[in-house]
Order: sequence, then structure tokens, then C-alpha cells
Amino acid sequence: MSLLELRDVHAYYGHIHALKGVSLSVAQGEIVTLIGANGAGKSTTLRTISGLVRPRQGEVLFGGRPIHRLPPHEIVALGVGHVPEGRRVFPRLTVEENLEIGAFLERDRKVVQRRKEEVYALFPRLYERRAQKGGTLSGGEQQMLAIGRTLMQDPRILLLDEPSMGLAPVLVDFIFEIIQRLNREGRTILLVEQNARLALEVAHRGYVLATGEVTLSGPARELAQNPEVQKAYLGEG
Ligand code: ATP
Repeated sequence: MSLLELRDVHAYYGHIHALKGVSLSVAQGEIVTLIGANGAGKSTTLRTISGLVRPRQGEVLFGGRPIHRLPPHEIVALGVGHVPEGRRVFPRLTVEENLEIGAFLERDRKVVQRRKEEVYALFPRLYERRAQKGGTLSGGEQQMLAIGRTLMQDPRILLLDEPSMGLAPVLVDFIFEIIQRLNREGRTILLVEQNARLALEVAHRGYVLATGEVTLSGPARELAQNPEVQKAYLGEG
């Protein structure tokens, strides 16, 4: 059974029809990537899953249960962890405080402490910078913090929106290694990426979104070999 399923989801911003019947699924343990050009609706898809955008039609099911009418905080509590585009860390709070806010639903301090240790083990750089204000971190460190903060929720699915955006190549590689490591450790991941090449390398399956519609889907390896995908998204052909 799918952990996450979108069925014929339509979403609007005013009169703009941003999602025109998107259907997709993510099984437990998968990395699924959503690729597509600017404005295709990738971020809107993630925002619809986490309740920030209400679908006008269609359904979002998480663990078999409809969640598209729930408020965002209830969707978080069910185990949906969204790392938004642009990192949005709290600039005046320290790294450590940012992480603790991520675990706001957890009352057991020991659990919070253990999760923090796990995040620091994943990102030793954050441990070194734990007393530094979020706003003074480099772009790559802010991305690590944004991911780390969401991991503090111990989500059942991680929605990652353009984690490679604006990062130097070596950091992009690092972030993608982290994504694979999280998956090996059992995390289910829905990854939105402009960097289709890398996304298709790490993902099990993929969906191509164009102007609010899924135009292609399949195993990531097959998508990477697809001439249309190569031409439009991999800069080949
Ligand atoms: P990008 O890679 O550029 O972030 P995307 O595939 O994530 O693109 P979305 O951000 O989901 O695309 O945008 C889908 C469409 O909805 C675009 O036409 C965009 O201009 C429009 N849109 C997004 N957010 C808003 C908003 N807050 N108000 C109005 N229109 C919006």
C-alpha cells in the first residue's frame, strides 16, 4: 500500500490553475522524485500535501487516510515533514534552538535529545555551529539546518523542496548523499528537484510535471533514458 497518494488533485492560486489533476503515489521506503520546469507546480504539489494549499478537487491520502481537509499542524503531527524551498530557518535563533523547535510536538526531553544527537551525527557541521544564529549560517549550512529541523519531527515521510538550490557542487553532492543515507535508514522521501540528473540518480521512481500535469512517470532509471526527458530536463539530445 502507498504511504502517500494524491488522486486527481486540482489546486488554484486565485484564477491560476496550478495543479490540473495530479495523481501520484509514494510507497513506504521509496525515494520518489518530482521533476519539471520552473512553474510546473512542483512546490505547489508539496504545499498541497502539507496542507498549505487546499486542493479544490481530488484527494490526498496519507497512510490510507484523507488528509486534504486537515490543518497543516495536524498533518505534521501525522508524520509529514516538509522542508520548504528557500530553507526558512529562524535567523535569530541558534542552530540548537532551531532544531528544538522542530521537535515541538515531542514532550519527552530524552527523545528530543536523542533526535538532536542523530541530527548532529548526520551533520557534524551543525554540531560545531550549534550556538551560532541561524541567519549567519552559509547557504549550505542553512539547508542542513532546515533538513535537520524537519528530521526532529521524526517524520514518516520527508518532503524536500529543491534541496540543491543555490549550493556549490560539493555541497549538492553532500546533500544528495544525506538523502540516500536517510533512505537507507528507512526514511521515505518525496524529492522535488530542478537538478533532474541527480534526482533521477538517487530516486527509485519519478514523475515529470509540466504546467500542472503529470506527463511521464516510471522507474527513475527508465526516465533518465527517456529521450524526451533527456532533451527537456537533462540537457541532452
Ligand atoms: P519552481 O521550480 O520555479 O519553484 P514549481 O514547479 O515549484 O516551480 P510552483 O511554485 O508550484 O512551481 O508554481 C506553479 C504555478 O503556480 C506557477 O505558475 C506559479 O507562478 C503559480 N504560483 C505559485 N505560488 C503562487 C502564489 N502564491 N500566488 C499565485 N500564483 C502562484
